[in-house]
Amino acid sequence: MTTTPAPTSRILLSSPDVGKREEELVVEAVRSGWIAPLGPMVDAFEAAIAERCGRQHAVALSSGTAALHLALLEVGARPGTIVIVPTMTFAATANAVAYTGAEPFFVDCEEQTGNLDPDLLERALAQLQAEGATVAAVVPVDLLGRCADYSRLLPICERFGVPVVSDAAESLGASHAGRPAGSFGVMAALSFNGNKIMTTSGGGMLLTDDAATAARIRYLSTQARQPAAHYEHTEIGYNYRLSNVLAALGIAQLERLDGMIARRRAVREQYVEIFAGVDGVRVFQRDGDAADNCWLTAVVIDPAEARWTAKDLRAALDAADIESRPLWKPMHLQPVFAQSRSLTVGAAERLFTCGVTLPSGSALKPDDIQRVAEGLVRFLERA
Ligand SMILES: *Cc1c(COP(=O)(O)O)cnc(C)c1O
Repeated sequence: MTTTPAPTSRILLSSPDVGKREEELVVEAVRSGWIAPLGPMVDAFEAAIAERCGRQHAVALSSGTAALHLALLEVGARPGTIVIVPTMTFAATANAVAYTGAEPFFVDCEEQTGNLDPDLLERALAQLQAEGATVAAVVPVDLLGRCADYSRLLPICERFGVPVVSDAAESLGASHAGRPAGSFGVMAALSFNGNKIMTTSGGGMLLTDDAATAARIRYLSTQARQPAAHYEHTEIGYNYRLSNVLAALGIAQLERLDGMIARRRAVREQYVEIFAGVDGVRVFQRDGDAADNCWLTAVVIDPAEARWTAKDLRAALDAADIESRPLWKPMHLQPVFAQSRSLTVGAAERLFTCGVTLPSGSALKPDDIQRVAEGLVRFLERA
């Protein structure tokens, strides 16, 4: 008979990392009586995030998806328009496009970083321009905490006159060319979901440098109420604001962000050591990762060289009660987007087939890291 370890012993990819400070501020928020989706914690959290991301304005929202949805509405995404999205992303990016009625158009990624390929983006924009299509936005995604190549992407989008909405849901704390994640594009979206680099249990933020845009987002996210005692409504609104209690979590987490990034980086270094000298394996995004937040560490396997597959590795980890996952399944391969257009060259598909995301959380205990390391070493010895 095989023994099944207790479910609590399973080591997860990226668990929330909360402690005393979070508890203190949440209690303070509750005792203050500000329980609504507004209040001093929300104001302070918005100011702190805006400063951290080098932005003039930040609007706290109920999720990163909500931030993307409102940003896309604001740039004019609607039925009859197209929004370009990298195919290598989490579904939320594409779902937000669908909410507006616009059509997502998926573009492939760079094999090294998994981020939107600027050359392919240029080709897609030229093709769509030739067709006379209206492209409402390009939404680069900062995959797993590595900023997209904005130095190349922004000038291309500018040449085509298309606004950039940055999906920085995974990259808070990272930077590109000396500028923080979240500072790129006309607007950027952050996520504080439970598995992200920092969390409010659920939440998001919209960032912009334009005061009028920030005001519009605030208005749309609070049911589009006109200033009248009876709540006059002239357009459809949304209930997307962040609770003051959850903002308290966010303030505490942001204070600890740099420490949490350092811990995730240390976890990555461990994987770099384990896989050093193993043929056919590269630690994903390892090259030039000094400015990344190392949200998740993945390895990419060349099965011909390694003589084992991503599937083999995942099965071995699962047997040791260690969670792992493939990289995001590309959107152009998802049944729900089967009808959508795309420009792909197989890069995202190869990453999906050959990539394995490993436990990367800042809350991992030394014992957990030890157990993962031992599991990997045992697998590599047998393989
Ligand atoms: C997590 C995530 C989102 C959505 O954020 P939520 O806060 O969970 O709604 C959007 N885009 C990407 C790339 C993400 O990883």
